[in-house]
Amino acid sequence: MSHSMVHIQDLSKAFDESGCVVDGVSFEVKQNEIFALLGPSGCGKTTTLRLIAGFEYSDNGEISIQGKLVEAHRVHVPPQDRGVGFVFQDYALFPHMTALENVAFGLKDIPRKKRLVFAEEVLCRTGMEQYKHRTPDELSGGQQQRVALARAIAPKPKLVLMDEPFSGLDAMLRDSMRKEVREILKKSGMSAILVTHDQEEALSFADRVAVMNNGKIEQIGTPEDVYYKPKTQFVAQFLGRTNLFRAYADGKELVDTHFGEVRLDEQAEGLILCSIRPEHLGIDKAIHGQENAIIVGREFRGHDITYHVLFKGDRYIVHTDNRKLFEVDEKVIMKPLEPAVVLQQSKTAKID
Ligand code: ATP
Repeated sequence: MSHSMVHIQDLSKAFDESGCVVDGVSFEVKQNEIFALLGPSGCGKTTTLRLIAGFEYSDNGEISIQGKLVEAHRVHVPPQDRGVGFVFQDYALFPHMTALENVAFGLKDIPRKKRLVFAEEVLCRTGMEQYKHRTPDELSGGQQQRVALARAIAPKPKLVLMDEPFSGLDAMLRDSMRKEVREILKKSGMSAILVTHDQEEALSFADRVAVMNNGKIEQIGTPEDVYYKPKTQFVAQFLGRTNLFRAYADGKELVDTHFGEVRLDEQAEGLILCSIRPEHLGIDKAIHGQENAIIVGREFRGHDITYHVLFKGDRYIVHTDNRKLFEVDEKVIMKPLEPAVVLQQSKTAKID
């Protein structure tokens, strides 16, 4: 418990009779850890963040921040007393203050004279130096978002809560801001919880990712874990493109499939559902007389190529590096390069 920054146990919240939008959520964020809540629109991630901030009252469960209980049955510590910094979607900057004054406003703990100097330093790191004397109405949405980020992290709170903090930035700026903010958080020893629906953002920015669906967390793990070892069909499909297939397993780590013998990541038995990422399938030129797959589509994406392959009536996607060139209608051989992941079965699971 001593290394825990945030501890959440069985947290639930419903707004009306339509059911829980946060449904028994539990997780822990460690000191100096960057944690992402990732999921599709409406899955309950913003509500979870607002509960941690204290902007909503929970129906059930507990939240502790730095070992102090801030939310539980008959306990609700108000947001200003939770010691956290926020970046929410509406930015909420003070309209009558300049960008610099907005950032300096939260720096109550340092002497007045130094406040502006320090605020300027943080604003610079978000690339906003030239706009420091503008008020929010003279700034674009993306610029306001950068001021809001600088304002949240400048006072170095122990915990920063961020709801889609990079959404208003173009691709290049988004990349550099993520890098910059990650560095500031890590250097200053802050912990952060990031809410995003963008899997690439969660995977590149966070130390650990919780994948949410329908108010519940389906899996928590490092970016590599959730990407390469998804536990459920939802996680496998939400984190990127994948190939799903069914097979009969007999307690061993090898199964027979349409494209030959495939190794599994664990022993399994019975009818199983498996996932294999497109970069874990390989294709080669067909050898005469062999059972062949056929290329039915090709997407050139610069650094790699995605092929759509039809094999015995099923379609597969394969990523290869851009030196492997095949044409549409060309016959190929397809083979797994890595073990396939066995997914937990749910009754509703179906292959799309
Ligand atoms: P998004 O990425 O679109 O913001 P989200 O995963 O953050 O989605 P939430 O904002 O937590 O999702 O919303 C979860 C569900 O709760 C949605 O169905 C939403 O309509 C509902 N909801 C959120 N706030 C309220 C509210 N104040 N009153 C009623 N329903 C709400």
